[in-house]
Amino acid sequence: MENIENKVIVITGASSGIGAATARKLIKLGAKVVLAARREDQLKLLAEELGENAMYVVTDVSKRSDLDNLVRQTIDRFGDVDVFWNNAGIMPVSFFEEGHVEEWDQMIDINIKGVLYGINAVLPHMLRRGQGHILATSSVGGIKTTPGIGVYSGTKFAVKAIMETLREEVARTIKVTTVFPGATKSELGHDITSPMIKSAFSNLQNMPKMEEEAISNAVIYAISQPGNISVNEIVLRPLGQT
Ligand code: NDP
Repeated sequence: MENIENKVIVITGASSGIGAATARKLIKLGAKVVLAARREDQLKLLAEELGENAMYVVTDVSKRSDLDNLVRQTIDRFGDVDVFWNNAGIMPVSFFEEGHVEEWDQMIDINIKGVLYGINAVLPHMLRRGQGHILATSSVGGIKTTPGIGVYSGTKFAVKAIMETLREEVARTIKVTTVFPGATKSELGHDITSPMIKSAFSNLQNMPKMEEEAISNAVIYAISQPGNISVNEIVLRPLGQT
């Protein structure tokens, strides 16, 4: 296992859920962590909790210039970017017949374009250095579809395709990892407006769910591999999820 100490790790979607939980673990392992998301109050609180090895940059991943700024500010403060994790995502799911087109657009902008803008911002830096590690969070919804989650699933299939192609292009020097979580406790889905989804998944609260820590452990496993090992895909489901 490679030492995580002093690695500079950028996490988008770090203001809550999986990203925030992983940031807490990484700081304990001695990493320098850069927290990115939109909600400044949440980021500020977390950065204060984590101490001097953490910083935050208010970032909307659907804005390309925000990702460029995130990488620039990270390099200004910590000198390099060793690991960049495209983790931000939203899941306002609905059935196609409901026509929630604005929410489809938001998912495409955040879940797909956000990942592309992240890659675009950090890749030149990593290629110049001849090393680096880019991760993204897809989903079990990026491997199989379920009625009601079509657009979300489509964005997460896209993440898989983008990351796999990136891996093929940069496999000589850059590590590329895609994580596919199953149901995990977090704020995800707080923005669901669809009445059909709410009634179709009325037992959502009772579904088996993993702790965020399960995903953190998987990400830390990928990051802590020896220099010549690139972990490409990790799928995690809570027992009971089909
Ligand atoms: P949360 O809702 O707790 O976290 C989502 C994070 O994304 C928040 O920090 C949010 O911060 C951030 N975010 C949303 N929109 C933007 C934006 N435009 N720009 C920057 N940041 C943004 O859920 P999770 O922790 O569960 O989600 C993390 C990832 O895991 C997502 O990609 C999700 O799709 C994926 N996932 C989660 C699963 C689950 O069951 N929980 C299962 C499979 C995949 P803010 O609002 O402050 O911007």
